Amino acid sequence: MLFLKQIRAHGFKSFAELTVLDFTHEMVGIVGPNGSGKSNITDAIRWALGEQSSKSLRGAGLDDVVFSGSANLPPQETAEVTLVFDNSTNVFQKWATPLVEITRRFNKKTRDSDFYINNERVKLKEIQDLALETGLTKSSIAIISQGTISKFAEAKPDERREIFDEAAGVAKYKRRKREAQTKLIKAMENYHRANDLTLEIEKRLPNLERQAHKARLAEAKKTELQQFEKSILTLDVQSYQKRIGEIMEFLPNIETEVRQLTNDLQQSETELNELLKDNSLSGNTISNLNQDFQKLVEKISDLKIQKTAAEEHENQQKQNNSFANLQADKTQRDFANIKNAQQMETDRIREAKNNFDRLNEQYDAVNNKYQNLRQELEQLQNTEGPLTYRLTQLRNQKVRGFDKSQGYQAIINNQKNLPGVIGSLKDLVSVDEQYQIAISAVIANTLNAIVMRTNADVKASVNFLRTNQLGRVTFLPLDTLTPSTITGSTATMIANQKGFLGFANQIVKIKAEYQIALDYALGTVIVVNEYDDAIQMAQTIQNRFNIVSLTGDRILPRGAIVGGQNKTSNLFQTPRGQESNLVDLENQLANLYEALKIKGQALHETKIARDGLRDEVNECQSRISIGNHQIQQYQKQLQDLNNQYLALTGKSLLGNSSQAQQTLASVRLAKEILKCESQRDDLQNHINKITLAKNKYAERQQELNTANQAKREILNNKRSHLTSAQQELTLIEKDNSAKLAKLQADYGLTLETVLNQKVEGFTDEEKVRERISILIQELRNLGNVNYDSIAEYQTEKERYDYFKQELESLFQGMKNFENIIKSIDQEMETQFKQVVDDVNTVLPEVFQKLFGGGDANLKYTDPDNILETGIEIRVNPPGKKITNINLLSGGEKSLVALSVLFSILKVRPLPLVILDEAEAPLDPANVERFARYVRHFTKDSQFLIVTHREGTMENCDILYGVTMETQGVTKMVKIKLVEAKQLGISEQQVTA
Ligand code: ATP
Ligand code: MG
Repeated sequence: MLFLKQIRAHGFKSFAELTVLDFTHEMVGIVGPNGSGKSNITDAIRWALGEQSSKSLRGAGLDDVVFSGSANLPPQETAEVTLVFDNSTNVFQKWATPLVEITRRFNKKTRDSDFYINNERVKLKEIQDLALETGLTKSSIAIISQGTISKFAEAKPDERREIFDEAAGVAKYKRRKREAQTKLIKAMENYHRANDLTLEIEKRLPNLERQAHKARLAEAKKTELQQFEKSILTLDVQSYQKRIGEIMEFLPNIETEVRQLTNDLQQSETELNELLKDNSLSGNTISNLNQDFQKLVEKISDLKIQKTAAEEHENQQKQNNSFANLQADKTQRDFANIKNAQQMETDRIREAKNNFDRLNEQYDAVNNKYQNLRQELEQLQNTEGPLTYRLTQLRNQKVRGFDKSQGYQAIINNQKNLPGVIGSLKDLVSVDEQYQIAISAVIANTLNAIVMRTNADVKASVNFLRTNQLGRVTFLPLDTLTPSTITGSTATMIANQKGFLGFANQIVKIKAEYQIALDYALGTVIVVNEYDDAIQMAQTIQNRFNIVSLTGDRILPRGAIVGGQNKTSNLFQTPRGQESNLVDLENQLANLYEALKIKGQALHETKIARDGLRDEVNECQSRISIGNHQIQQYQKQLQDLNNQYLALTGKSLLGNSSQAQQTLASVRLAKEILKCESQRDDLQNHINKITLAKNKYAERQQELNTANQAKREILNNKRSHLTSAQQELTLIEKDNSAKLAKLQADYGLTLETVLNQKVEGFTDEEKVRERISILIQELRNLGNVNYDSIAEYQTEKERYDYFKQELESLFQGMKNFENIIKSIDQEMETQFKQVVDDVNTVLPEVFQKLFGGGDANLKYTDPDNILETGIEIRVNPPGKKITNINLLSGGEKSLVALSVLFSILKVRPLPLVILDEAEAPLDPANVERFARYVRHFTKDSQFLIVTHREGTMENCDILYGVTMETQGVTKMVKIKLVEAKQLGISEQQVTA
């Protein structure tokens, strides 16, 4: 069979120029002198078929295959060999062409090493596969290199096995087995990795499941709680707000009533005091008049005694009238003196009387003024109540705009006395107008929070609030606040979203030292342009933070949405109209207080003036009364002197009439007594009148006392009503703001939202409240709950199930690969055994043919392990009793090796066999036998035989002569047998 049709070599070893070898016969002899390049042909074939070992190509490295230059020729850069195979019998099943060309090229400079099949660039592996198909591989018998034939005979059984492996085509099974083993190892690694992971998850799963169960339980309770709690809190706050409204409605009225009653009572008391004073004055006057009355009575009795004495004296006088004249003179002088004094006193009384009239007039005028002033003051006082009530209402409305807590205002007002108070958040921040509504929507509850320097400072303010019952206030101590803000990649991600305007804590401005308070209040609030942006943003951040739009629509963490009309709208602006009303009212009240002050002052001054005038009137009165008394004294003295004089002279110093002079003292005394008695009666009348007036005062006093008593009772009632209303208000406001804070914190509701909410009442509210506290307690009992565990458990469980399945399929895969390896092993074993068995059947015959008798067979060194067993050759050369192959001669060893070679060729024919001086050690007879035997195989195989032996040359179909005409460059030509014999045997004899 003709298989290798052509070899083309260029730049390979000694083939400096392009050398083309065409093969046209099955048995080709190649002859030439030593070193001419014969073996280089074999090398070229093996190199082109992908030989990788430089050593087996008789070189030190790849560079050694490239022509290295000669005396005349420069070195080559590239080595190239092409083999042209006949594929008409389909040896190369993969290549459907009738000819298959294999090329290998190597460039020393570029280090490019390329393979081609039919001019198509291929990988080394494809070439190696192709070599496998031809059987032209390193370990096969297809290429028997120079000097290797005896090595086969001398080789160890294990090494020898390789040839049979090759003949059995085991190489491809081995490769498949290697691949299967690699896959098996990979599958095992995957299996172990998956198994480790599964075990790890399995360990964590029960705990995670427990946590998830707990979390689900807590979530259910929470949902139920939220359902009830929100409604109940809303109902409470609504009813509180209603009640607060009611109280605020009537509270100012009571306050006004209390104030008016108090004023009223005060006035009554004043009147009462004046009555008391008047009463006591009347008492004094009565007692003075009584004294006068007493004196008159005494005088009358004196006069009566004098009259009796005068009558006696007149009787005596008549008897005794001697020294009387002297005495009469003296009496007359005394009389004149006293008369003078009396005249002076009379003048003084007149003057006092004039004064009295004038003062009385003045008193009346001033008293009138006083009464008028009092009335005016009362009127002013009556207008104060309604004004104050209106002012309180307006102020409440203003305060209610952001906080009902009077505590916040009280703290700010007392800032100087309380340590560490910096101010309310509202007073510290500034907000651009465009953001005011958005910020109002999210900060309402904390806007009135008080920023404090330290945590320690808070205590004093809290005590202040508690002591004064001023409700609750939120404090933000700068040293202990731990605000949470959005930072890092999350912040960047949020900032890149559509409609993003900023983070609230950065949009609102505050002094750097207070920034932490702002971060606390607004650190996790995102401000966006409009509602749709807010919704989009909430989805992106999975509802983790607060979002608010410019119109104040809000999305709370966990997804609640607060939107729609907002009544408070802008907390940073106070409504204009109300503000000006408030200012007007405050001005009116200030004016009123000023007027009240002025009127009060005037009233006070008028009262002092009036009281002064009254004192002066009284003094005049007593002056007149004392003067009158003095006049009476003088009159009495004059009367006495006149009586004396009358008694001495019988003439009267009083009057002028002689009739009077003649009037007797007793007569005059009788007249005098009559006059005094009339005076006494007048006095009595006067006393009666004053007493009557005094009684009237007492009656009025009594009346006032009773009235005041009743007023005091009413006042006390009102006061206690006021106190209880104030207390109720404080309590409700405290509860209200606590519940509102909870609604804000847990449900994100503002006061407006709560008030506008329509809540269905519960049929059994008590039960609902009971349920709420049970749920709160149950949630508390659950302790720490890991809500993420629900999703975590789900994921881990899915992973677990997945790995379980994966493990199963990996296990199946491993099993599969193991089975494949097992079946490959079986196949290898079968094939190997088959080859050895087949060779054993033909070996004896081949052996006998080459040796001319004897026997040989193959034996396994380890028959139980066919896959690894070595192959031993048992020989029985004719006429010899030797079984150990090593004891044979060199020629015999070669014959044994050739016997095995031919036996293999018999049972597993190869398309091409190259023999490089394989028969060299044989004697001529054996060479002859060898050469003729080769002929038997030329039907199935092509032979290239490098030889120096004549016997071989004679049996070849054609001979090639190899020479080096040019030193160092191989040249080949077809030659005749005669030439060959000369060329092969003696170089010296070669001719051109
Ligand atoms: P023998 O009959 O002794 O076996 P041979 O004909 O088989 O001889 P080869 O072994 O084929 O001879 O050729 C060896 C010759 O090839 C050497 O003389 C060497 O000079 C030449 N040779 C080997 N490699 C190169 C190379 N890279 N460049 C040039 N010449 C080379
Ligand atoms: Mg050689």
